[in-house]
Amino acid sequence: MRVILLGPPGAGKGTQAQFICDEYQIPQISTGGMLRAAVRAETLLGSRVKQVMDSGDLVSDDIIITLVKERIAQPDCANGFLFDGFPRTIVQARSLAEAEIDLDCVLEIAVPDEEIVRRLSGRRVHEASGRVYHVVFNPPRQAEIDDESGDVLVQREDDKEETVRQRLVVYHSQTYPLVEFYRQGSHSNPVKYHEVNGLGDVEVIRAAVMNALAS
Ligand code: ADP
Ligand code: ADP
Repeated sequence: MRVILLGPPGAGKGTQAQFICDEYQIPQISTGGMLRAAVRAETLLGSRVKQVMDSGDLVSDDIIITLVKERIAQPDCANGFLFDGFPRTIVQARSLAEAEIDLDCVLEIAVPDEEIVRRLSGRRVHEASGRVYHVVFNPPRQAEIDDESGDVLVQREDDKEETVRQRLVVYHSQTYPLVEFYRQGSHSNPVKYHEVNGLGDVEVIRAAVMNALAS
């Protein structure tokens, strides 16, 4: 199973990705997560991308495409993978098609802008695993603590309201065109496209996501 999760920042891609990856036993490939790991490890890549990520803009297509190609060549991707936050531009999507990386399904999680700021201002993450919580909508058992490891949760630098607004501008101009790109099947191979309403209870959305993938 090869899946793309599409949707604005804060749509719930990471939240639903965890359910899908458990169910289908495929790795979650979160380009944002990989880039943040590089920033934390202070690698050369990390030093190149930190500033642009903090500003809410996109990292260059070349960097991302190289990163993803290396990642999907790993043995754990042999039976499929889930892209979370990739592709983000038409150039990135074309690079997949050109590399003849066929996809089974593109799943769009649709959430209006007004809801996004509310969600991201309360987002907390477990850095090591990528697990996501919300202080009100999806709280950990103990406030500010990861359920599984007991580590302290953190707030992302780019989840400040001003940066979130910039990320939404970037989403609408650069990433939203992918909805049409995949809906129309301009990908050289046919791919199933599903839109799921991302508003409402996490469990209800989970059921809709699982239905879409199974259909
Ligand atoms: P979210 O899950 O909130 O949508 P991500 O973790 O996917 O955010 O991305 C965080 C930041 O990492 C983005 O704002 C961007 O700077 C960078 N980034 C992640 N994935 C990509 C990508 N595919 N192309 C370009 N930049 C990316
Ligand atoms: P994305 O990966 O698309 O940026 P996340 O999965 O990180 O989105 O979710 C963004 C924030 O919204 C997190 O704090 C998460 O706990 C919360 N969230 C996810 N799904 C829902 C939902 N259905 N209702 C309310 N909050 C949600």
